Amino acid sequence: MDNKALKNRGMERSDVDERREAVSELTETEFDAIASYPFEPSAAKANIENMIGVIQVPLGFAGPVMVNGDHAQGPFLIPMATTEGALVASVSRGMSVITASGGTRVKVFSDAMSRAPVFRVRGIDHAEEVIRWANEHPGAIEAAVMSTTSHGTLTQMEFFPNGRSLHVRFSFGTGDAMGMNMSTIASEAACKVIAENTGAELVSVSGNMCTDKKPAAINSILGRGKTVVAEVTIPADIVESKLHTTVQAFVETNTRKNLIGSAMAGSLGFNAHAANMVAAFYIATGQDPAQVVEGSNAMTVAEEVDGDLYVSVRMPSVEVGSVGGGTKLPAQSEALEMIGCKGAGKALKLAELVAATVLAGEISTIGAQAAGHLGKAHSELGRAGK
Ligand code: NAP
Repeated sequence: MDNKALKNRGMERSDVDERREAVSELTETEFDAIASYPFEPSAAKANIENMIGVIQVPLGFAGPVMVNGDHAQGPFLIPMATTEGALVASVSRGMSVITASGGTRVKVFSDAMSRAPVFRVRGIDHAEEVIRWANEHPGAIEAAVMSTTSHGTLTQMEFFPNGRSLHVRFSFGTGDAMGMNMSTIASEAACKVIAENTGAELVSVSGNMCTDKKPAAINSILGRGKTVVAEVTIPADIVESKLHTTVQAFVETNTRKNLIGSAMAGSLGFNAHAANMVAAFYIATGQDPAQVVEGSNAMTVAEEVDGDLYVSVRMPSVEVGSVGGGTKLPAQSEALEMIGCKGAGKALKLAELVAATVLAGEISTIGAQAAGHLGKAHSELGRAGK
């Protein structure tokens, strides 16, 4: 984009423009689309290095969905950024089923971000000494944490000794931030105090028992970020009129697919496609997209209750924030505003909306598979124009 075009946009020529021109020359590529964005690049300076522009992902809305959460209450239009045709339509269909059934009850059961450093110790007796010192001096460790953050609090310390390695999994309250930077900085300070007082040597502030951005059972069992459960009871007539299947067929499809099939595959996610909703929601609202790995770690359960269909989704590791990270980027910030989740005091509401959106997507897709409609929807919507 030339200087005149930038001036027309009311923007000064920036390092980003110069860098993009250099990359354009080196790679012999025109960057018209990548160069088009309506904000000062300085808005993204904490989010990217070597910035040359933006990649745009189409944004749609799903809903309305009626949510009866502890924090999210009322009808919501949910922003979803995706390139997968049929996804938004499918989630909207699930949301119309939820809304016609009176809404989804959603609850956040726990909220703590974990970081798990690993120390080198001299052997198991030294490991025991380190654990004892840490358990006897929680005040010293907490003081180190509090010197790094005004919103972070140390809530738990769990030790996992293993020969000459000693892993400690710290859990932190992180206010309204997703909290990964906060927890990492706080963990480094906590480790310094432990190392100075015990002779244990810090090998890495992340010893992979955290576990960040990798599939791991520990996140399912102990939780990471927010552990959220959403449920809905769908009357049998709505299952038939809106999903074109029966309660029994839905339950059987869910059991044989999401429970038995996932177990046979050794999967950590016992769901149909939670990652789809999590990714589209995270990209739209400025969450860290790599944490879709943990977000997709969800279990969908369906049961017949008094002739109606009860469906729940348990999401043990929803790592989201309404401040920090990518949430302050202009477009992402608008998407957060659309669901009333921008800024302080909104992180739990945001997590409830993630679970409500995943529940809707699960209901629609399992319903479509129970009715034998999945391929048809994708060929009609995902290949529109072909
Ligand atoms: P952050 O943007 O690094 O930190 C949040 C900031 O917001 C802190 O400075 C905090 O202040 C401040 N803050 C203001 N009001 C707050 C409130 N109400 N609640 C909580 N904090 C408030 O964000 P983060 O959530 O800690 O980390 C997210 C970022 O980490 C993402 O960009 C993600 O991509 C990245 N990430 C980092 C790692 C890593 O290992 N470092 C791993 C994965 C992802 P105080 O500090 O005073 O509390």
